[in-house]
Amino acid sequence: MDYFPLFADLTDRPCLVVGGGRVASRKVRQLLRAGARITVNASSLDPVLLDMANTGKITATVGEFKPELVIDHLLIVAATSDATVNQAVAAAAAANFRLCNVVDDCEHSSFIVPAIVDREPLTVAISSGGRSPVLTTVIRQKIEGLLPARLGAVARWAEAWRDAVRARFPDLRARRHFWQTELDGAASDLILGGRTAEANRAIVRALAADPARSDRGPGIAYLVGAGPGDPGLITLAGWRLLQQADVVVHDRLVSPALLDLARRDAELITVGKTPSTASISQDEINKLLVQLVEQGNRVCRLKGGDPFVFGRGGEEAEALAAAGMPYQIVPGITAAVGCAAYAGIPLTRRGLAKAVVLITAESATGESEPDWANLAAGEHTLAIYMGVGKLNAVSRQIIAAGRSPDCPTALIENGTTDRQRIVRGTLKELPGLAKKHAVTAPALLLVGQTIALADELAWFTAPPLGTGWPSNSGGAESGKTIWTEPSDLNPGAQT
Ligand code: SAH
Repeated sequence: MDYFPLFADLTDRPCLVVGGGRVASRKVRQLLRAGARITVNASSLDPVLLDMANTGKITATVGEFKPELVIDHLLIVAATSDATVNQAVAAAAAANFRLCNVVDDCEHSSFIVPAIVDREPLTVAISSGGRSPVLTTVIRQKIEGLLPARLGAVARWAEAWRDAVRARFPDLRARRHFWQTELDGAASDLILGGRTAEANRAIVRALAADPARSDRGPGIAYLVGAGPGDPGLITLAGWRLLQQADVVVHDRLVSPALLDLARRDAELITVGKTPSTASISQDEINKLLVQLVEQGNRVCRLKGGDPFVFGRGGEEAEALAAAGMPYQIVPGITAAVGCAAYAGIPLTRRGLAKAVVLITAESATGESEPDWANLAAGEHTLAIYMGVGKLNAVSRQIIAAGRSPDCPTALIENGTTDRQRIVRGTLKELPGLAKKHAVTAPALLLVGQTIALADELAWFTAPPLGTGWPSNSGGAESGKTIWTEPSDLNPGAQT
């Protein structure tokens, strides 16, 4: 995090604005709105500032900037048109441990001012860390459109009922559930529609309702598919439930950016398994879910991809059902679908692939191998999960099932994330290529004629590391997409 966001209470606190022109007076107006006690220092003041000084709204110190001016001030804003003066102000502020904003100069600022969407008392602050003010503006406009104009009234109404609700629901969790229902539903709609009296009657009724409401009772589990990596690929339903959860039980592969969407006070439990180490057994995960729901929690079980595709979500749902615990299942974009899209590889295509087969190369101990002979036959696209460690055997078996050794394959590592890498080659070359490029899990293997279409359809270039969204696991050549053609084992053609 480049900048720590905070909301400062400036009421009656001394702030210094250096500069006497248009920019300075804009900053003064903003600070006055927050109730700050402002001193303006400049060699001359424009008429607006002069008027403010004459009417006692601000204090004016006319003359050159002197470093000692910063001492008695909490925040400093340097808003002169002279970069040297602005930098001197920043240096004086830094030397005295004061926060200083140099207008339009992130480099010399120790704080920056976000764009805001103002629904007083609700305020949304947006910043791109100074990287793209235009992007900030675009986002601000979107949020402006999203938030009803009267949202502030809802916040004030909730504040008026806070004590009554706290008295009625001393338990924090019961209270939160109560508020969530009220603020997400009819009561807030009434306030937004200006019908405060009706909203008051509704909350009085809700507060008087059956005390069973406030009982813990069993909670609920949401088995939510998080998608393959790009946090934007979760569904709206999954996103909403994630934000409601008291506890989030998540796989290791789930993007940290998604976990950031959970409530700040939600408990996060990692039950990640790596291919080599099983940190917690499936049986233990099932028991944990049942126990958490029994205790009254809303549990979001956030799983990579789709919960019901090689995710063992079926077993978790069975355990919950057997214990009589309520649950919901929210599908997710499975790795095959996500990786294919981000690689520009259609999974089906008239004339090239009539079906898609999702296969795991990893079978449970004692289980028989997949029926390769049947699965690999025909004009099907094969999407093979959990196969990185078994590429030799997998490629051999698919060839034995009748696929040409020259059939195109694509091995997609960390698909849809900023670390996506793609290694392409033929079936017979595959194990060697994977080894050469040190492909690691998670990686998905696609086999089929449509892979060649990626030559034209590939569109996603993983951004250089550190500029994209946070991703979840390391890759040797992060941020690069490697296209390895059958005849060219040299990974030089990186995009
Ligand atoms: N439920 C998940 C699959 C879990 S099994 C889903 O629907 O996608 C784990 C396997 O999924 C990995 O071994 C890998 O083969 C595949 N996988 C998951 N995320 C992936 C990603 N971002 N890129 C490539 N493969 C991925």
